[in-house]
Amino acid sequence: MPVQENGNASDSELPFWKRLTLEEMSTAEWESLCDGCARCCLNKLEDWDTGEIVWTAIACQLLDDESCRCSDYPNRTTRVPDCIPLDPEKVRTLSWLPGTCGYRLVAEGRDLYWWHPLISGDAETVHEAGISVTGRTISEADVAIEDYEDFLVTWPAERPD
Ligand code: SF4
Ligand code: SF4
Repeated sequence: MPVQENGNASDSELPFWKRLTLEEMSTAEWESLCDGCARCCLNKLEDWDTGEIVWTAIACQLLDDESCRCSDYPNRTTRVPDCIPLDPEKVRTLSWLPGTCGYRLVAEGRDLYWWHPLISGDAETVHEAGISVTGRTISEADVAIEDYEDFLVTWPAERPD
């Protein structure tokens, strides 16, 4: 591998997420940073007094629990006004963005995990690694809001390391 005089690999040989800022990425590069875990599509509860955020296993009504894909991605903000499309500023400021999230990892200067499709070349590895929400959610359409506290979970905030 050609190296520069300082011994580091040439910048042009680095993958785009190590070479570009979040703002510099193309739309396709930006979209590909999502590992497809759907952790961010789970409902969260915020303590009004402390601001603490806790996770639930209750998924957005548009989430396909098996594939972990949004069933109407192009119209998601119209269909679900609470849906928060990510941008570089939100990635850097939303405290609840999962620690395993590809956007958050890159914003923190960390590398992507092995299961990320950009590393593995396989969209299934995020499920095989047990990182995605597949098979672990209940739709918000099936839960009354007063029962949300019965579905609290901690794993969406966890990192394997
Ligand atoms: S948490 Fe991040 S990587 Fe996972 S689905 Fe949401 S945006 Fe994509
Ligand atoms: S609208 Fe789609 S992208 Fe937004 S939270 Fe719901 S499932 Fe996720």
